[in-house]
Amino acid sequence: MSTILVVTEILEGDLRSVNDQVYTAAVQMGRATGQPVTALMLGGGDLDALAQAPGVYGVAKTVLVEDPKLARYSPDCYAAAIAQVARHQEAGVVLMGATMTGKDLLARVAQLLDTGLAQDCIGFRIDGGAIHFTRPMFAGKVLAEVQVTSRPVMATIRPKAYKAEEAPVSVEVERVQLDLPEPLAVVEDYQRGGASTLDVTEADIVVSGGRGMQGPEHWGLLEALAEALGEGATLGCSRPVSDDGWRPHEEHVGQTGKTVAPDLYIACGISGAIQHVAGMASSKYIVAINKDPEAPIFNVADYGIVGDLFDIVPALTEAVKKLKAGD
Ligand SMILES: Cc1cc2nc3c(=O)[nH]c(=O)nc-3n(C[C@H](O)[C@H](O)[C@H](O)COP(=O)(O)OP(=O)(O)OC[C@H]3O[C@@H](n4cnc5c(N)ncnc54)[C@H](O)[C@@H]3O)c2cc1C
Repeated sequence: MSTILVVTEILEGDLRSVNDQVYTAAVQMGRATGQPVTALMLGGGDLDALAQAPGVYGVAKTVLVEDPKLARYSPDCYAAAIAQVARHQEAGVVLMGATMTGKDLLARVAQLLDTGLAQDCIGFRIDGGAIHFTRPMFAGKVLAEVQVTSRPVMATIRPKAYKAEEAPVSVEVERVQLDLPEPLAVVEDYQRGGASTLDVTEADIVVSGGRGMQGPEHWGLLEALAEALGEGATLGCSRPVSDDGWRPHEEHVGQTGKTVAPDLYIACGISGAIQHVAGMASSKYIVAINKDPEAPIFNVADYGIVGDLFDIVPALTEAVKKLKAGD
């Protein structure tokens, strides 16, 4: 029987949180189609400590590929490895998180396997055994249904589109040796650019600033709000803010930046241009603070506050602190 293969993203030895969400999506798909789910982990060694992790989310098998050629991330060598495992495991479906790496890597794998890929999906439904993926298109203006008619079916799943659900099972671990090509390109080093430690795509709450912030010296206001909101909160920004060097590019949200879908997105001094909205419209709740009542951000906001952010953000921070302190 064909399997649903989930490619696990490992960054500097750590599992990224998006994996748990993709395991959950895969287990739901497996229940609907009757296919087992297999997690795939690639690396230079020491993967044993991670192998049981998919079991927490209901994935009963992990395939480990340990090879010195996979010690450092190489898009071409990793793609070759995934393609070989997909063939070896007779994968009917291959899934991965729609992170920067996931979108790049699975596109390469799809080319090697000569099959189709649905990128950045936010859901799926099964009809007559066929998987129909839902994906936002045209900067989030429409939701398209996509069916991959070649095999294996391949898709990347947008971070936060699925909530990770625990369903513990024991995990069978299989080790696979592959004949891999020499890597053409490897990542030598990772450097964290942002002051925030939590990546904007992984945060539950994003406090985001636009040009209305008037300069980098005012970001302390947003940092204080994010800190008051707690551990799951981080900072985001609009593109001109990162283009002007007020904030690092890692925080840039939108069509040409990162796509986020947190539980709460607080847009401060952001006008709501279509290119920005494309990156945050799937957020569960959107709060907009803007002094212009006609700002387009209010069209996508669940809650809007018309006023000067320099008054409102500190007041909001104090209110959150009081609420958290139980006053
Ligand atoms: C091809 C292309 C791709 C792009 N990709 C992206 C992208 O990925 N992400 C992105 O963000 N943009 C992107 N853009 C740019 C986009 O079109 C907008 O120019 C940009 O999003 C505007 O950023 P902003 O909202 O911070 O600034 P502005 O549009 O200048 O808006 C500032 C807002 O702050 C409000 N404001 C000012 N002072 C205050 C105050 N004291 N209190 C409260 N409110 C205040 C104003 O009323 C205004 O609405 C792209 C553009 C193009 C052409």
